[in-house]
Amino acid sequence: MGLIDTHTHLDFPDFDVDRPALLANARALGVQRMVVLGVHQANWQRVWDLVQSDDQLYAALGLHPVYLDEHTPGHLTDLRDWLARLVGHRQLCAVGEFGLDYFLENLDRERQQTLFEAQLALAAEFDLPGLLHVRRSHAQTIATLKRFKLKRGGIIHAFAGSYEEAREYLKLGFKLGLGGAATWPQAVKLRKTVARLPLEAVVLETDSPDMAPVMFAGVRNSPEHLPQIAQALAEVMGVEVSALSEASTANACHLFNWDL
Ligand SMILES: [Zn+2]
Repeated sequence: MGLIDTHTHLDFPDFDVDRPALLANARALGVQRMVVLGVHQANWQRVWDLVQSDDQLYAALGLHPVYLDEHTPGHLTDLRDWLARLVGHRQLCAVGEFGLDYFLENLDRERQQTLFEAQLALAAEFDLPGLLHVRRSHAQTIATLKRFKLKRGGIIHAFAGSYEEAREYLKLGFKLGLGGAATWPQAVKLRKTVARLPLEAVVLETDSPDMAPVMFAGVRNSPEHLPQIAQALAEVMGVEVSALSEASTANACHLFNWDL
């Protein structure tokens, strides 16, 4: 079993010019499965159509906090309808992407919280993991997750918190998504935290087309970069890349109930 890219936006128009070739190349490089995350109601159909075209692509559907102003209360009803219709389908793997973004100051925090809790409730109702976007909001996210314990946990995508926060998430049944951010030598604090994480804590991701790693600075990120990201992260963690690859794939398979 190869690597798993647990966080991509492969439905974005950035990939319209070469998506099939990119997928074939990613497989040739050992990246077998990829998760594509819906971010707002208008892109769920596109995400679903994409994963239906390839049996090793998996979908998560959610309402991302960065698109807060686009979401309406009706979209939560729509999300519930989508999940009710697709739950049990092998290619629906989670609710996401959703969460709290306190970095962008124009995003109303109360409305974010309402949306966050409503989607945690949907993850619990449909017994799905939650794939979370958490920026500058770890304390609030952890406090909320303690009230809404998800039986299947989930992933803190692009984790950039402290070691203590990492431990809280692990206790709550969450894995930490690592990708391009920790490949940058400037990310001193994050690299120190990553170096202390146990292999059981980690899943790999690219967040394509965003979050380019240092070796592909300034270019569109792609699942094709995941093997080199894994290599760089293994060096930061002080483990063999084979150990990180095996553990991260096993962690993702366990989380999503996939066969190894
Ligand atoms: Zn994302």
